[in-house]
Amino acid sequence: MQLKDRVFLVTGAGSGLGAAVTRMFADEGAKVLGIDINMEAGEKLAAELGDAVCFHKADVTSEAEGVAAIAYAKARYGHIHGLVNCAGVAPGEKVVGRDGPHGLDSFGRTVAINLIGTFNMLRLSASAMVNEEPGPDGERGVIINTASVAAFDGQIGQAAYAASKGGVAALTLPAARELARYGIRVVTIAPGIFETPMMAGMPQAVQDALGASVPFPSRLGRPAEYAALVRHICRNVMLNGEVIRLDGALRMPP
Ligand code: NAD
Repeated sequence: MQLKDRVFLVTGAGSGLGAAVTRMFADEGAKVLGIDINMEAGEKLAAELGDAVCFHKADVTSEAEGVAAIAYAKARYGHIHGLVNCAGVAPGEKVVGRDGPHGLDSFGRTVAINLIGTFNMLRLSASAMVNEEPGPDGERGVIINTASVAAFDGQIGQAAYAASKGGVAALTLPAARELARYGIRVVTIAPGIFETPMMAGMPQAVQDALGASVPFPSRLGRPAEYAALVRHICRNVMLNGEVIRLDGALRMPP
């Protein structure tokens, strides 16, 4: 899929990886509806990037807000050719113990945002994309989700996060197989550790140690490197149903 004049929804677009993806799409001449619960950051980004980018406040866990966001994108741009699911949260809590055990509420909230929110936006977007005219190669749309290496390599304190991201990885192939008949692809990226506000809460020494543990290039990932993979996936129609690690060969010890 060529990106110029195509219309993409990006969730979590106000910050980190989603903001980098929004910036990349704008640079490529695509149009973006950014979706986030944090409108302040989103509107600042939209003001910087111009008319091709606008923001809509929506919680990805809400069916009604997802429907409204898609209706807004259709009204403003007339089409939906792609979705990049970046909205997510990463609470760190232990399964048991005195320092903040996972309550069911916290576990459920993590799964609701990271997994159910991803699925909610995927199915609502796919329902809109099936009405698009197929391109020359039969493609109607592309959906890119964000899992995490925690889906395969979860650490202590990541039980809820890893479970939610494992779900995102697992839904990729069945969704791709189901949507193939409509010419809609589904691909998931599993990032390692990236320099975003989600990581900024960690002490610098911990961030440096994590960066040094990446075999190559021995540093944290940059959001623009994530966005570059999104661009590559959009352009390569053969990439489908895959979960791609983007982690510099990082394999975390337990
Ligand atoms: P971030 O915190 O910088 O950005 C996440 C954005 O999602 C925020 O703008 C937030 O407001 C938004 N958001 C949260 N809940 C929402 C909801 N219910 N509805 C709509 N928007 C919501 O985080 P990031 O580092 O850019 O992470 C983006 C994605 O990448 C997340 O899914 C995260 O789990 C995943 N990821 C990040 C890393 C990393 O190292 N940064 C590694 C692996 C996976």
